[in-house]
Amino acid sequence: MHSFKEQRLYIDGEICDASSGETFANISPATGHKLCDVQIASSADVDRAVASAKNAFTDWSQLAGAQRGRVLWQAAQRLREQTDDLARLESLDTGKPVTEARLDVVGAAEVLEYFAGLVPAIHGQHINLGQSFAYTRREPLGVCAGIGAWNFPLLIASWKIGPALACGNTLVFKPSELTPLSTLRLAEILTSAGLPPGGLNVIQGPGRVGDSLIRHPSVAKASLTGSVATGKKVLNALADRVIPVTLELGGKSPLILFKDCNLRQGVTGAMLANFYCQGEICSNGTRVFVEDEIFDAFIADLLSRIRHLRIGNPLDPQTQMGALISHAHKEKVLKYIETGKNEGAHLLYGGQSPLLDAPFDFGFFLQPTVFTDCTDTMTIVREEIFGPVMSILRFKDEDEVIARANNTDFGLGAGVFTQNLQRAHRVVAQLQAGICWINNHNYAPAEIPFGAYKQSGLGRENGTAAIDHYTQIKTVYVEMGELADYP
Ligand code: NAD
Repeated sequence: MHSFKEQRLYIDGEICDASSGETFANISPATGHKLCDVQIASSADVDRAVASAKNAFTDWSQLAGAQRGRVLWQAAQRLREQTDDLARLESLDTGKPVTEARLDVVGAAEVLEYFAGLVPAIHGQHINLGQSFAYTRREPLGVCAGIGAWNFPLLIASWKIGPALACGNTLVFKPSELTPLSTLRLAEILTSAGLPPGGLNVIQGPGRVGDSLIRHPSVAKASLTGSVATGKKVLNALADRVIPVTLELGGKSPLILFKDCNLRQGVTGAMLANFYCQGEICSNGTRVFVEDEIFDAFIADLLSRIRHLRIGNPLDPQTQMGALISHAHKEKVLKYIETGKNEGAHLLYGGQSPLLDAPFDFGFFLQPTVFTDCTDTMTIVREEIFGPVMSILRFKDEDEVIARANNTDFGLGAGVFTQNLQRAHRVVAQLQAGICWINNHNYAPAEIPFGAYKQSGLGRENGTAAIDHYTQIKTVYVEMGELADYP
């Protein structure tokens, strides 16, 4: 059985004790056993973390961009060197398959490399006004607060830390209380790569610790990855101080398979969009719309492949589905499955715990689950489940499916499978989603902006768009003529 020593905070370039005297238990999703205790930050610890980041900001923000870039690049190389170790840690903490966790570590390195390369290109504009002129300066914001969800702890942290540090900000980050481990390692790596003490501080604890962090008067920006409900609380908390915010929230994304798609690819896309990471992905295409003519063939291919998904020990490189994050979350997903059945959907596959040997018999595993005979008004079709539950819906024509796909308050992702080039672009142009995929789903490399329409969020992460959200523009007008006498 795996266990770790008690985990602490990371402030001012070193691991340190919290002053609250309180801890929480960090549970292994795969076995239900305790991995370690984690110290909870007190409000004095939040003060200390923010003060340290504020102190570090003065020098960090004034470094030449290329110098900041070198630190990020170095950190990325260390992440790459430690891929196996970090993947194992992330897999133990999240319950996800270690092969997927490896891709997360590499993805985090790629994000840091991307922003390392981008730093020297962060600049303002020169605006010619005839005789006079103006210019803009892109200035950092100050101390940023980052708050993470539990499904991609290291990636979520790097999506915030990379651009924030690149732009000259410093950060205090609170990972999810369900996955506290990897961000501490990332902080140590950044320090060893040359980030000055206080450049990134990590505090631990439940939502209330996140709340006191974002409300701190010296915090200049907050970035949250979490549920829509938490996003609304964060927006409310920041309204008083009118500070900028990035929100990456939940979704109920449509995935549309037209009759002219490559069906094998479409089924692969639908499976990845529902069962990768045990279905715990914000942009998952959980409303799978299948055109009438290919409906039976889609179901047949899906059923022939779904039974081959290997569920079990997340540390086994053969495993394709690990454990859900917690007992409470698994119960929530099971409740949705019951609701689906009660509201008249047909449970085509799964819906139960797989039979696994010890020590995984106490883990939070769930079979991949598929519902057919779904309607747009059912709870399982409207609400985010955040587990391996696919709802399949039939459609007859393009206009109908676009209207139905858009009939939701969420607006994170959308996927379209078709081999008709014009249809693909015509349809995505009408979908109300921040990120659309044609003949793929969920792919999100560092180079492309990721974010949402409607209630699924505000702002963008990754791509050059992220720079807009970690800098503020100062306009400087320069008078080159003489002011006329007044009065
Ligand atoms: P959550 O909203 O419960 O928690 C997210 C984080 O916010 C945690 O660190 C939590 O401690 C903190 N928090 C809770 N209340 C807070 C408050 N009042 N003030 C400040 N911080 C607070 O979400 P979760 O269960 O950790 O994650 C699942 C949700 O995250 C899903 O809805 C999923 O779709 C979403 N998500 C979105 C993206 C994206 O990029 N859009 C990515 C991953 C997950």
